[in-house]
Amino acid sequence: MMAPPLPMPSAAPDEEIYDVVVCGGGLAGFCAAVAAARQGSRTCLVHDRPVFGGNSSSEVRVTPHGAAQFHAYARETGIISELLTEERARNHEEIFENGWTNSVWDMVLYDMAASTPRLAFHLNTSVHSVLMNHAREIAAVRTRTPAAERERVLRATTFIDCTGDGTVAHLAGCTWRMGTEAAGEFQEPHAPPQASGDVMGSSILIKTRHTGAPAPYRPPAWAASYDDASFFYQQGRDPSEIRGGFWWIEIGMPWHTIHDNEAIRHELTRHALGVWDWIKNKDPRLKGKALCYALDWIGQVPGKRESRRIAGQYLMTEHDPQNRTVFPDEIAFGGWFIDLHTPGGLLAASSEPMAALGQDSAYAAKSYAGPYGIPLRILVSRDVDNLLMAGRNVSVTHAALGTVRVMNTTALLGQAAGTAADAARRHRIPAARVTAEAIQDVQQTLLREGCFLPNFRNQDPLDLARQATVRASSEFILGGAGPESTWASGGLRWVGTACATLDDQRLVRRRGQWLHLSGPRLETIEVCLSNLSTVPQRVRATLQKTDGIWDYRVETGATLAATVLEVPPGEQQWIPWKTDWEGEAACARLDLEANPEVVWHISGAIVPGHPCAQAIDGEKMRRYQQAATLSFRLHPGQLCYGPSQILSGVTRPHSQTNLWRSRPGDAEPWITLEWPQPVELGWVQATFPGHLLKHYHSYPPYFRDPQTPKDYSIHCRQDGHWHEVVRVEGNYQQRRRHRLPAPVRTDALRCTLHATHGDPSGAIYEIRCYAGTPPGD
Ligand SMILES: Cc1cc2nc3c(=O)[nH]c(=O)nc-3n(C[C@H](O)[C@H](O)[C@H](O)COP(=O)(O)OP(=O)(O)OC[C@H]3O[C@@H](n4cnc5c(N)ncnc54)[C@H](O)[C@@H]3O)c2cc1C
Repeated sequence: MMAPPLPMPSAAPDEEIYDVVVCGGGLAGFCAAVAAARQGSRTCLVHDRPVFGGNSSSEVRVTPHGAAQFHAYARETGIISELLTEERARNHEEIFENGWTNSVWDMVLYDMAASTPRLAFHLNTSVHSVLMNHAREIAAVRTRTPAAERERVLRATTFIDCTGDGTVAHLAGCTWRMGTEAAGEFQEPHAPPQASGDVMGSSILIKTRHTGAPAPYRPPAWAASYDDASFFYQQGRDPSEIRGGFWWIEIGMPWHTIHDNEAIRHELTRHALGVWDWIKNKDPRLKGKALCYALDWIGQVPGKRESRRIAGQYLMTEHDPQNRTVFPDEIAFGGWFIDLHTPGGLLAASSEPMAALGQDSAYAAKSYAGPYGIPLRILVSRDVDNLLMAGRNVSVTHAALGTVRVMNTTALLGQAAGTAADAARRHRIPAARVTAEAIQDVQQTLLREGCFLPNFRNQDPLDLARQATVRASSEFILGGAGPESTWASGGLRWVGTACATLDDQRLVRRRGQWLHLSGPRLETIEVCLSNLSTVPQRVRATLQKTDGIWDYRVETGATLAATVLEVPPGEQQWIPWKTDWEGEAACARLDLEANPEVVWHISGAIVPGHPCAQAIDGEKMRRYQQAATLSFRLHPGQLCYGPSQILSGVTRPHSQTNLWRSRPGDAEPWITLEWPQPVELGWVQATFPGHLLKHYHSYPPYFRDPQTPKDYSIHCRQDGHWHEVVRVEGNYQQRRRHRLPAPVRTDALRCTLHATHGDPSGAIYEIRCYAGTPPGD
């Protein structure tokens, strides 16, 4: 006999009223809710799991990735950066790969949720139906909290669907797509000839642990059995990192991602145990290495990659990231490659083409994308006027989802959706009209809150710093760096990065080094080269103007100088090139064409804002050696880190360094903003360097970025005397906002950097100054 259904409370459901209700607490939903609440909206976040974070949580353990995996200085900023910086600062655990996220991350998220004013949340609570005012407006969502036997009705002005599956939009009757578009529909390079219902599969991850002694493993009889090494090693399923991860333990077709979730979970469990059996007991390459390893954790919440994509005001196709379309309603950026797993996962011929074919393949060249802008219109429902969406359920094609779905990107989409929802409240318009009527407000708010938009900069009329003049105690002069350099000479050595071998550094392909030239002249460039042959070698060199450090065109069409360098046999020789260039400031790239007998040495220091690239084919380059700096010297040194950089309106290296940087040896560097007439200041915000260069999982436990100011103070000048208004010790965050103890009428503000976390120079990207109180305070 079947048990009767659980009785639900007989009383009418609890009713709560908000400005914004966010459904689904993955990173998109989490950032949406925090953003809306911070800006002033009474917000509720409803999440059906006990911990926030969705796939990134300790229940699933997918590592958040984003644009910095492929592009230098492309880490996502804003709320996601605060969270990930905090996690690295607090966590004792290495996050080297999927499978390793622990509860520290969950608690960082929980801490932020619990500390955010105006943010309510219901965990373990599922949205199961919607109430409509009429066909184009949601009145409320109905939720159920099974462990509390409680039903709620959550009313709001704006709803944000971050469920991943687009459940709210589906319940509200919105149009959606699910499956793969045919090439004929949008002419996307990655689209197959035929349309189909194919989507990427779901996964569970595993984590293993070294036990210190042999650890036997016997799989259950119902586990899958693997016996063929080529299934792993030739089809993009490399099991050799035995500590865990294995994103390719993936099952999708023929099961349905949503409706067959439980069947998929069971299949994934069978296969995960079978894969571990292969590693432990069968793989001739790994079983010795795995002898003392035991299976420590296995996920039981399938991480989903793809299901419904809700129709928005715009459908983003693969062409947009590939062409870097400039959208007037740009609200975020992406930079992951077009990452399309083979439908079927473990049941398919290979996992994902690039993993199977390699990073240097033609497929990889075709799939490299970004950084590119993302428009707000893909977050705004086409069918319901008070519905936004963020996360993997946004308005994109299957191919475009390949790049936007990674979680640092979805977190940016979430922050934008939350900010747009709040703009709708302040402008008293439905969310659907924000794209047309309040987009500049949304963009400027996002920039003020630390986000980066590739094609927009700070133009906030309320920012008083923009009216100030700037001077500083000193200025770093860009002279170059070589193999012998250490950060004491003004660069930054990367923590934990193995140096490339001499062989790795051979010029097998064209390579380029970005140089921020300040003008008015550059007499000589030197490059440190080794000629490994016994005869003189020739290398063609060009100096080209670029649009910025992500301008990957091999030929930009703006050559500033060109020559052929003669390289005699021998190691580590500084080869001079008399460029005699004169001109205005330019973001240039020094390229050396391929000659495999010659090595262009990687510098021992990373010069801030100066990454390098390597050609992937005849037209395109890509980041080389994880944002290292190749050796160069400039004569005379260039003044690209001057104090005025902090008013450029951009908070990371791009078409200029956008960074004020002091001379190493300036013990307590300071920068001063001065106004011709006194201004009244209520709050100040500073954006510091750090946490931009590389992707998050290359940062070690308890990490403090060496470039970030640790101790600093802010003084205001009144009647010719300086008064301290802010003093901070032990900072490690990149963006700090300070409400002054009381409004100050002042004609100058000075920020003094007393200590960094190791960098001998002090540096700041931006200072903003405002009257009144911060938004939402
Ligand atoms: C194994 C695997 C590896 C991946 N690798 C990477 C990687 O390395 N890096 C990376 O950044 N991305 C990776 N991805 C992709 C990424 O994890 C997803 O695209 C991303 O999680 C999407 O974010 P989201 O916020 O939209 O959804 P989710 O993270 O899925 O969050 C949505 C949340 O909403 C909740 N929810 C759903 N329905 C309801 C409801 N009705 N009521 C309340 N709550 C609800 C769900 O429980 C879920 O937790 C990977 C995905 C998988 C599965």
